[in-house]
Amino acid sequence: MKKNIIVISGPSGVGKSTVIKELMKRSFVIEQSMSDTTRSPRGNGDFYRFISRKQFFNNLKNGLYVEYNCYSDNYYGINREVLRSILQKGHIALIDCNTAGLLHLLADKEFQKQIISFYLTAKPEVIYARLQNRNSETPESLLARMEEGISDLAVAGKGIYDFIFLNDRGDTAEKILQVCSGNLHIKSDLS
Ligand code: 5GP
Repeated sequence: MKKNIIVISGPSGVGKSTVIKELMKRSFVIEQSMSDTTRSPRGNGDFYRFISRKQFFNNLKNGLYVEYNCYSDNYYGINREVLRSILQKGHIALIDCNTAGLLHLLADKEFQKQIISFYLTAKPEVIYARLQNRNSETPESLLARMEEGISDLAVAGKGIYDFIFLNDRGDTAEKILQVCSGNLHIKSDLS
């Protein structure tokens, strides 16, 4: 079975969106799957469909989501039809989600065999500085995101991901492309 769903996870502030933009710039067939979220837009062109909680729970009730998750008091969900339409075009779907999201995807009968997963990490001080520079977080929400990132890493380190990369050298997108083309087999920068 072809691995045509790339999952990219990592703590908030690790730099996933930069890596995702770089991947899409370098490959015409990689297309990001747009998740729904109830969080407010940050005004930085985040790739989400921003919806109300009412709409989200309505969608949930109607079975629209492959998976959904609550993170920092906001809901996020992957729409099954959005994902299907990318794959039906023969494209590779790129999903930005947390570890809970990956576990849900791996349990989904339709998509589970198509997934290749990458966890991006960085030193806590680097993540902290990035979150601060973003100017989108209150001190409380910044701390909450740091804490969620730490607990996520504890789970992520348990062999759930196919690859774990340190995202601090500017070569992560290149490494992901090499893995996907079968030219790189380093499983983790941390070992
Ligand atoms: P942010 O608010 O920083 O954009 O995202 C917060 C967290 O939610 C990140 O870890 C991101 O990867 C994750 N996330 C984004 N979309 C989804 C989704 O559809 N499902 C799940 N499970 N997590 C998501």
